[in-house]
Amino acid sequence: MKEKVQLLWAKRPLIISGPCSAETEEQMIATAQRLAATGKIDMLRAGIWKPRTRPGMFEGIGVKGLPWLAQAKKITGLPTTVEVATAKQVEDALSFDVDVLWIGARTTVNPFSVQEIADALRGVDIPVLVKNPINPDLELWMGGIERIQKAGIKQVGMIHRGFSSYGNTEYRNAPMWHLAIEMKRRNPDMLLICDPSHISGRRDILQAVSQQAINLDYDGLMIESHITPDEAWSDAKQQITPERLAELLDAIEWRKEDVNSAEYHAALEKLRQQINHLDDELMQIISQRMKVAEQIGKYKKENNITILQTNRWNEILEKAHKKGEVLNLSREFMTKYYDAVHMESISHQNKIMEG
Ligand code: PEP
Ligand code: MN
Repeated sequence: MKEKVQLLWAKRPLIISGPCSAETEEQMIATAQRLAATGKIDMLRAGIWKPRTRPGMFEGIGVKGLPWLAQAKKITGLPTTVEVATAKQVEDALSFDVDVLWIGARTTVNPFSVQEIADALRGVDIPVLVKNPINPDLELWMGGIERIQKAGIKQVGMIHRGFSSYGNTEYRNAPMWHLAIEMKRRNPDMLLICDPSHISGRRDILQAVSQQAINLDYDGLMIESHITPDEAWSDAKQQITPERLAELLDAIEWRKEDVNSAEYHAALEKLRQQINHLDDELMQIISQRMKVAEQIGKYKKENNITILQTNRWNEILEKAHKKGEVLNLSREFMTKYYDAVHMESISHQNKIMEG
C-alpha cells in the first residue's frame, strides 16, 4: 500500500472521499463499496474523532471505528485517511494501518497540538495533509506544515477548507481563494487539495466551488460522501451520495496548467503583453493621482483642515459603485480598490502634513 500511496501523491487530480464521520460498520463499508464502484475515487476518508465547536454534538465513534476503516480498505483496495488531533490518536491510527493522516482546521490553529502530533510522528514514514487553520492566518498554516516537516515527514500536503467568520452566510467557511493562492506560491511543489464540502456547508454550491478549485490549478479534491446524507450524524447538509459525487466529478471541466501548442502560447503571449502594458499605465495614473492628493494635502495643511472628509469619501464611493456597475466591475472589487487607493492617498497627505 505504501507504494500505491506514493504514486497517488503524484496523481492529478487526486480525489479523496468518504463520510464526515464513521458512524457504523455497515455505513462505513457500504460507503466505501459504493465509492469504489464509481471508479473515480483514489482514497477513502472518515472522521474517527470529531472536534466539534459546541459540546453535545456527535464527537466521533473513536477507536472502535478504526477496524471498520481497515476492513473497508481490505474490501475496496482504497488507501485510507483520518484526522488526528493528539499523540494518542496518531498511535491508534498507525496501529490500524491508516495510510495518510490529516490535521484538522481546529488543530492547525494550536501550535502545541501540532507539535504534539509532530513529535508522535518522529521516525514514522506516512504522508500528512495539513488543513488551513479556521482563522485566515497564513503564518499559522505555514507553521503547522513546518512542524510536521521538521519531524522528518517528507510528504506533506495542504488542504484548503476555507476560513470561518462571524455572520458569514453564503459559505460555511469563506474560501478566501487569494490565501490558498499565496500558499501555493510559497510552496510551489506541495500538494494542494481543496475541501469544497467544508467551504460550502451545503450541497447546492459544491459543484461551483469544486470547479473554482480546478480552475485555480489545485491538485485534487476532498469531498464528503454518505450513503444516506440526510441522516448523517455530522455535517448532514453538505454530504452527498457516492453516485452524486460521481456525477459531480463528471461535470467538472478538468483543466491542465499548460499545453504543448505554439498557437496557444503565441496568442497568450500577445494578450499578456497587453496586460503588462495596461498595468504599467494604471500605475502611472495612480502615481499621478497621488501627486494631486499631495497638492490637496498642502492646501489642507495651510488651512488647518482634516485629511479625512467623510462626506467627500461617501460621494466618491457611491459614484464608483454606479460607474463600476456600468463597466462590469463588481461592487466588492470597487470597494476594495477604492479603500486601497484612499488609504494610500491618506498616507501621502499625512506625509505632507507632518512636513
Ligand atoms: C472534517 O474534515 O470533517 C473536518 C472536521 O474538517 P475541518 O477540520 O476542516 O473542520
Ligand atoms: Mn465534516
